[in-house]
Amino acid sequence: MTTGGHTQIGNIDLVKQLNSAAVYRLIDLHGPISRIQIAEQSQLAPASVTKITRQLIDRGLIKEVDQQASTGGRRAISIVTETRAFQAIGVRLGRYDATITLFDLSAKALAEDHYPLPERTQDELEQALLKAISHFIEYNQRKIRELIAISVILPGLVDPESGVIRYMPHIPVNDWPLVTALESRFDMACFVGHDIRSLALAEHYFGATQDCEDSILVRVHRGTGAGILSNGQIFIGRNGSVGEIGHIQVDPLGERCHCGNFGCLETIAANAAIEQRVRHLLEQGYQSRLTVDDCNIKAICKAANKGDPLACEVIEYVGRHLGKAIAIAINLFNPQKVVIAGEVTEADKVLLPAIGSCINTQVLKAFRKNLPVMCSALNDRSAIGAFALVKRAMLNGMLLQRLLES
Ligand SMILES: [Zn+2]
Repeated sequence: MTTGGHTQIGNIDLVKQLNSAAVYRLIDLHGPISRIQIAEQSQLAPASVTKITRQLIDRGLIKEVDQQASTGGRRAISIVTETRAFQAIGVRLGRYDATITLFDLSAKALAEDHYPLPERTQDELEQALLKAISHFIEYNQRKIRELIAISVILPGLVDPESGVIRYMPHIPVNDWPLVTALESRFDMACFVGHDIRSLALAEHYFGATQDCEDSILVRVHRGTGAGILSNGQIFIGRNGSVGEIGHIQVDPLGERCHCGNFGCLETIAANAAIEQRVRHLLEQGYQSRLTVDDCNIKAICKAANKGDPLACEVIEYVGRHLGKAIAIAINLFNPQKVVIAGEVTEADKVLLPAIGSCINTQVLKAFRKNLPVMCSALNDRSAIGAFALVKRAMLNGMLLQRLLES
């Protein structure tokens, strides 16, 4: 009986949360929008819409704006979201540092700082990270009106439900309860997520895949990873990890990968591997405007864009191997769009055609029709993926409800 009662209350709360979220989502997506339009599109009763919008207005999450009706004459009241009254912190935790960004709810970056984090144990890293976030909050206090969430993205194996980090590539972690640590320190909603999957979600909210529900993002950086979106959601699965495109074998006779296999994609498509290949060819005497002392990924892309034969050859080589793995992914998932991210996209004029020619020959004809392959729109915004998790929690009602109740 008690259990049944609890379930009932739970369901009513959940319905409330979902209805508020439905209204907020419509305003976020289509605002300025009138209450009548919201009722039509959400199929909620007009009285419910009135009640929910009242709550959202009282909390300062949405606001009314006057709008001249398109026919002229009567003024119609429309509603938009209020984005400047709330801030969230997005953190991208890298191998040796963290990028911390202050966002408002429109995803605008209000402040950003980099903190070196050389700590190599879980406890030390946790302490240093919490300290860096505290410092960042204090330093940017004037820009913060109401801080509603902190979100951290990182490479590794992340359990987004429990907020526990199971594995990181560069330090040993032992089921690191990062969300618990963040929430007990900062007393607000906190999130953790995988860096590349979160970036794929950010592209969907703010970048290149806003116009589609199913997409694949492939990012080349220290390795190669992918984020797959299906129906506008991160495809993750029960095992908690999907998209290890970097370990598809693209060359059976290739280099040994850190995973133990040979010829994995990321033995070729990774910044260090690209730089290494250029260095190797230079040492063999190939002519290029690049020199052994100046062949970082940035310089290589720049040279490729200027038509340097060696740089072009290496970027094409990377593109062909990326293309091979991406073609497999397209055949498996049939996405509406493919997005490439990472420093190497600076050489897009050389890279994208190389990827494209693989796709054209290796993907089912029906799947490659109308399939744009493009560069990330968010390449320079490394913590935006972290903010995407905050945005998701607003849109699905989880964080929204928390704000309404506080
Ligand atoms: Zn591997």
